[in-house]
Amino acid sequence: MSIEENYLNILKDIPKDVTLLAVSKTRSVEEILEAYNAGAREFGENKVQELSEKFEQLPKDIKWHLIGHLQRNKVKYLVDKVHLIHSLDSIKLLEELEKQFSSKDRVANVLIQINIGKETTKTGISVEELEDIISACEKCNSVKVRGLMATIPIGGEESCRVYFSEMKKIFEGLKKRSFKNINMEVLSIGMTGDYKLAIEEGSTLIRIGEGVFGKRNYNK
Ligand SMILES: *Cc1c(COP(=O)(O)O)cnc(C)c1O
Repeated sequence: MSIEENYLNILKDIPKDVTLLAVSKTRSVEEILEAYNAGAREFGENKVQELSEKFEQLPKDIKWHLIGHLQRNKVKYLVDKVHLIHSLDSIKLLEELEKQFSSKDRVANVLIQINIGKETTKTGISVEELEDIISACEKCNSVKVRGLMATIPIGGEESCRVYFSEMKKIFEGLKKRSFKNINMEVLSIGMTGDYKLAIEEGSTLIRIGEGVFGKRNYNK
């Protein structure tokens, strides 16, 4: 199936209030334009450099999401390019976001990334660190928290549901409280292999790479 067909099929399959983010890492400008022509306007990249290059080459009505780990020295390149950063994972990064975005009079929209499976190979804060980062976010002027993001451990349906529902519980718990600078609107969980389960468990945004563009080839 073509990229256009893949995109439209997934879109047809999901509720209207769930955002389909097309994850375009490693994909060419031509491939991204195919999804764009099918109506896609939100694309996710995991590297700042790649996001910047594609930002320059593609239509300006695209909303770019950064979904990969963000190094502090790259933050400055994102101002005016990024719509939503999914990977706030430390107070040090938060401080750099505040510094760079406020210096240009801009606001950084972010999700707090939680390492819900406590995997040593993954970035993201632990649930125990959540209150501290929230307090730090409340003190910012140029960073707004829009929700939470997680990538879950590889596993079967039962295991996926456990991690997704844990994320949903944390999300709803925070939603009930009232904070400065923090609004729980986006729960970014679910990828190609598990997005249906993620939606059943409460996802509001799914991040789909291979399901839209076909198998990734990192050696291209
Ligand atoms: C690559 C990537 C995705 C998309 O993965 P697929 O399995 O291709 O859908 C989603 N989220 C993150 C953080 C990624 O790096």
